[in-house]
Amino acid sequence: MADRFFPNEMPDFVAEAAEDESTSGRAKDSLTRLLHLPYKSLSERLQKSALDFKEAVVRETWGLRAKRVHDYTLYTGALGTAYLLFKAFQVTQNENDLKLCSEIVKACDSASRDSGRVTFICGRAGVCALGAVIAKHSGDERLLERYLTKFKEITLPSDLPNELLYGRAGFLWACSFLNKHIGKDTISATRTRPVVDDIIKAGRRLSSKGKCPLMYEWHGKRYWGAAHGLAGILHVLMHMQLKPDEVEDVKGALCYMIKNRYPSGNYPSSEGSESDRLVHWCHGAPGIALTLVKAAEVYGGKEFLQAAVDAGDVVWNRGLLKRVGICHGISGNTYVFLSLYRLTGNVEYLYRAKAFACFLLDRAQKLISEGKMHGGDRPHSLFEGIGGMTYLFLDITEPSDAGFPAYEL
Ligand SMILES: [Zn+2]
Repeated sequence: MADRFFPNEMPDFVAEAAEDESTSGRAKDSLTRLLHLPYKSLSERLQKSALDFKEAVVRETWGLRAKRVHDYTLYTGALGTAYLLFKAFQVTQNENDLKLCSEIVKACDSASRDSGRVTFICGRAGVCALGAVIAKHSGDERLLERYLTKFKEITLPSDLPNELLYGRAGFLWACSFLNKHIGKDTISATRTRPVVDDIIKAGRRLSSKGKCPLMYEWHGKRYWGAAHGLAGILHVLMHMQLKPDEVEDVKGALCYMIKNRYPSGNYPSSEGSESDRLVHWCHGAPGIALTLVKAAEVYGGKEFLQAAVDAGDVVWNRGLLKRVGICHGISGNTYVFLSLYRLTGNVEYLYRAKAFACFLLDRAQKLISEGKMHGGDRPHSLFEGIGGMTYLFLDITEPSDAGFPAYEL
């Protein structure tokens, strides 16, 4: 088990020192010195580093590929670079980032025209939704309308799965993204309600009496995690207007997961799995922690808050993964602490987020070059590579607004 992650040897809490104290060299090593930095100084460093990485990501995923798109997805492809540029624009207000983002989305639009995929992270809904939001920020009304029309033309096949990456939940997330960034009811309940109905119906069909009120299968397995399973679907449902009996089923499913987690506090990757290994956003405590934070925000109550806190402890102890990315790496796991900080206002969580980010800033490149850490199969992508780390470094500048990309709204 220990070979999946680095032992977390960072202190449980370090109070911020004054700038001159933290840089005076009294602290022994560079990571410890970073941990002592005042938040403002640290976020400036993270941002500076992020802007350099962003250039590298754009060069590798766009410039050097002659601006041709083979993989258009947000997960590993060009749309991920566009999403990163949108974040950079939000943080720095650099109009060039917005323009480049728009250009990349346009290429993704052409590349995805005949794609049957319908979700935000791996499908055409992500392209059209981000295109519309970028057009709005650019003040281009006609382009905005064009992308919204394309979005509304997306049809969902009847045999679509329900999970986030390829299924109904991933389409609904795109609808929520548009409603947040363009305006309430941009995609109305007339469009989303039948999709919610299908998800609830499918979940109840697989539920078993006295166990979990909603259950789903993807490729024959009953996954629990954020990417392909229950946690991701429940998370999206909590953004929707639900009927009282549906709310009860969502709560019941969450309680079932909490009750049946491993003694370690981690969560199985699928129903009945006894191998307590993965502490990823896609499988395990991190993705489920974000869903539990959402549950605590929406439903209140101590149970969800406590479960989210417990899951956060698992991530602190076992989440310093030997991978860099958002989906199954340190960058994604950092968002658990940002989410808990947003929920509780407790500065210890802000410290933990900082600590994971400092570890990446201080060591990731070196560890990757030494082969001690995996840079991702698609090493510049948003979900697997340094694109995700770059996104985190920019996002952490405003911790109370930060959110796991394409998951937390
Ligand atoms: Zn993953």
